[in-house]
Amino acid sequence: MRQSQLFGKTSKTKEAAAASINHELLVRAGFVDQLMAGVYSYLPLGWRVLDRISDIVREEMDAVGGLEVSLPALHPKENWEKTGRWGSLDILFKTKSQTKTEYALGPTHEEVIVPLAKKHIASYRDLPGYWYQIQVKFRDELRAKAGLLRGREFLMKDLYSFHTSAQDLKEYYEQMKDAYLKVFKRCKLDAIVTEASGGSFTKEYSHEFQVETKNGEDLIFRCSCGMVRNKEIVPDLKDGGACPECGKAVEAVKSIEVGNIFDLGKKFSKDFNLKFTDEDGKEKEVIIGCYGIGISRLMGSIVEIHNDKQGIIWPKEVSPFKYHLVSLGDDEKVYKQSERVYNDLVKKDKEVLWDDRREESNAEKLADADLIGISTRLVISPKLGDKIEVKERDSKNSKLVSAKEL
Ligand code: ATP
Ligand code: MG
Repeated sequence: MRQSQLFGKTSKTKEAAAASINHELLVRAGFVDQLMAGVYSYLPLGWRVLDRISDIVREEMDAVGGLEVSLPALHPKENWEKTGRWGSLDILFKTKSQTKTEYALGPTHEEVIVPLAKKHIASYRDLPGYWYQIQVKFRDELRAKAGLLRGREFLMKDLYSFHTSAQDLKEYYEQMKDAYLKVFKRCKLDAIVTEASGGSFTKEYSHEFQVETKNGEDLIFRCSCGMVRNKEIVPDLKDGGACPECGKAVEAVKSIEVGNIFDLGKKFSKDFNLKFTDEDGKEKEVIIGCYGIGISRLMGSIVEIHNDKQGIIWPKEVSPFKYHLVSLGDDEKVYKQSERVYNDLVKKDKEVLWDDRREESNAEKLADADLIGISTRLVISPKLGDKIEVKERDSKNSKLVSAKEL
């Protein structure tokens, strides 16, 4: 893509509305635009990153047997009444039709997938099932000030697993833990598996994946014995307090929850009467697990962790382009050479953003490249002759190579 034709401009001025690093950098670098608190448009650069992250998540979900579907965002009220959540879930967005019928805008999809599963599951032979989607969610969040970390409309991957027994769920749950750790590792985030309560609707257990950062909204406690818990389940514990497992002093750290996996037990099967006939001919309730990753929150988290004074530093796997080709000076020769390099790379399926702008100064172009943060920068300039300077965004060093070597 030619930068002269890019939709979305970089900006040097500080964002007045920005209360977080990810909002500040993503808006200034031209990745997203805020429509209102917690609601963002994704411009081409931002959309590409979201796509990269979605692809990583897809690969890892497919690797544990996930089948991708797409469920509606508009839900009938009755389904939410059946689970008791129409009245109890404070973040549920409700909307009314001109016929006065009420609907919910999906904040999560148990109310849709469980009735759907009922049409498919009759016997133990239909189980297990692992179905997921990557889809927009709506939540009436009170605090939506942390950029992509807390949206009122945001992108989530949610997978639901259906099992004949608690043991079968447990085994899948453990596989999913590993799959989640793979996702976060590929996004260059050190996620810590944290014990948490099952939430408001279940007494079963859950695990969160927390990324340590001083800008996080969550507080977790860590102990050298391996215990990690969210403050919400041990509200009386304080930094330096006694570990509930071993008694040693715990450390409190701020963090971002990038994923959450739940054992939902039989709660939703009971609500929707989802049963199967087992090998012994008996009717039993299906055991359900659910597994969420905030795709857009992940994008915000990567920016919170990977940045410097100059801008964003995208990890290679999620960088919007593989190369940022920057042409310096206004020498016609430089643009001819750049165009050859650009065409060659594109032909080899390498994705390149080419800064072909003529009006910007060299300093502005280099500052923009650092702000945008594409993982590898290529510079072509009259000073370098036929050579191309290659520099990784996360390194101070560069090297000179020929077009052929590149
Ligand atoms: P939180 O405690 O941060 O409000 P949650 O526990 O309610 O989140 P889940 O219902 O477990 O969230 O959703 C699964 C994942 O979706 C979370 O782990 C998080 O990564 C992401 N997520 C949840 N709420 C939001 C939001 N408002 N904006 C962006 N991502 C979100
Ligand atoms: Mg959660």
